[in-house]
Amino acid sequence: MTQVFATGGRPPHTPPPRKVCVVGGGLAGITASIALAETGADVTLLEARPRLGGATCSFSRDGLTVDTGQHIFLGCCSAYRGLLDKLGMTGHATMQDRFDVTVLAPGGSASSGGTTPPAPRAPRKARLRRTALPGPLHMLPALGRYPFLNLAERLNVSRPALAMRFVDPGKPAVDQQRFGDWLAAHGQTERSRRALWDLFSVSALNIAGDDASLALAAVVVKTGLLGKNNAADIGIPALPLGELHGDAGATLLGKLGAKVSLGTKVTAIEPVDGGGFTVRLADDELAADAVVLAVPHEKAAPLMPPGALPEQTVNAWSGLGASPIVNVHVIYDRPVTDLPFAAAIDSPVQWVFDRTKISGLSASHHGRPGHQYLAISLSAADEYADTPVAQLQEQFIPALAELFPAARQATVAEFFVTRERRATFRQAPGTAALRPKAATQRPGLVLAGAWTDTGWPDTMEGAVRSGLSAAVELRRTVLSSTATIGERQ
Ligand SMILES: Cc1cc2nc3c(=O)[nH]c(=O)nc-3n(C[C@H](O)[C@H](O)[C@H](O)COP(=O)(O)OP(=O)(O)OC[C@H]3O[C@@H](n4cnc5c(N)ncnc54)[C@H](O)[C@@H]3O)c2cc1C
Repeated sequence: MTQVFATGGRPPHTPPPRKVCVVGGGLAGITASIALAETGADVTLLEARPRLGGATCSFSRDGLTVDTGQHIFLGCCSAYRGLLDKLGMTGHATMQDRFDVTVLAPGGSASSGGTTPPAPRAPRKARLRRTALPGPLHMLPALGRYPFLNLAERLNVSRPALAMRFVDPGKPAVDQQRFGDWLAAHGQTERSRRALWDLFSVSALNIAGDDASLALAAVVVKTGLLGKNNAADIGIPALPLGELHGDAGATLLGKLGAKVSLGTKVTAIEPVDGGGFTVRLADDELAADAVVLAVPHEKAAPLMPPGALPEQTVNAWSGLGASPIVNVHVIYDRPVTDLPFAAAIDSPVQWVFDRTKISGLSASHHGRPGHQYLAISLSAADEYADTPVAQLQEQFIPALAELFPAARQATVAEFFVTRERRATFRQAPGTAALRPKAATQRPGLVLAGAWTDTGWPDTMEGAVRSGLSAAVELRRTVLSSTATIGERQ
């Protein structure tokens, strides 16, 4: 039977719940808010933008729902999948039954021998599908047949895969090395690095494969390739990200009694003598026992109260930098592929996803029956971040036609581009030492965000892990003591 207490649902003589402000409503902030509200804290989530979800967001365009950036996750993303579960969204993300990626490459041109232009050849195709064998054996049959490497290169792929077992991502010296140098030292040719390793490291780490931190690459390879055989199975949202995370997060937080304040930018976090904080907004202020600062590093640095961490530590966060992701969106007047997604090599296209259904384009009321919407996801996209749309169209429409022959006859009904200039931090060597732990030196102030020291790359999994760590840290410290701000004043 449910008990109702006169003290707002609390048993008599129980102190009022501790007030926690969570600053930033991305996945890190949403996760921390849920975890803290679940343990009875009085949570207020403050988000500068008019919606929750942070880097995972959607917008409307001519009746379509567009994600600014296609996201995927892996079977091993246990914390992120736990969040989906809590949000009731597990059924709205499609998990592969086995890791299965089609890799396409342009076929080159066949000479017509006459004066007519050469006809484009059919694209080359490979399928990387794992077996049911335990990892790492599960990938060997597919890698052994991978047609974009020669026999010697194929035989050599297992060398770094096995050597990776002995790489400890937690060692500072490992984080000082470039992944590309390490692969080359383990017999991987330029071709192997571009046609195989880049497929996964560039999208996972959002940095040119050779330039990635070996430590972060090791986390990806060890978990995805050397872990359980289903660790790298790919999960793809079946709902726009705004619904999957933002709307579902707001609904759950409402049920848990947390307040969500959108369009609310925090301008300062000031410690109060005797404990607690004043959280300053543009035209208001809030009192809190504890604060979770879950914003990107460049926004977190100016909000750090003096003394919360050494000044040089906070100043060094700028060394994490930023790396862009660009998505190129193309709507054709007809279907050009029946693949749900594919990767590409020897092409400017990196990964391409069919977004016809998820965007709502397939719904007949949009008046574009039979059209197909593809989104190309370009990681480490420094060279495209400022390229004019017309120039991207000139480059990517022919590139898609090389990979999808049916696109050669199709008409492009719409072409647009979304750019996230600070999609992730730049996951280069030397960054591990710059990523802070959740705890600060100021009791009650904790950090969260995919850029903090999660041991994971800057991903949804990292963001959720950071939110959980922040909540654990607060529960371990200030939230386990009894006095609230009201009682101390
Ligand atoms: C285009 C793109 C594609 C990606 N693809 C993938 C992928 O396929 N798989 C994957 O796992 N990861 C992917 N990522 C990375 C992933 O989205 C991020 O790692 C993760 O979402 C970061 O979450 P976060 O909560 O740490 O930060 P954010 O999502 O950046 O959230 C921080 C929030 O803080 C708010 N904020 C900032 N300042 C203030 C302030 N002063 N007051 C109040 N609020 C403030 C911001 O508005 C924002 O909502 C991608 C990222 C992008 C941009």
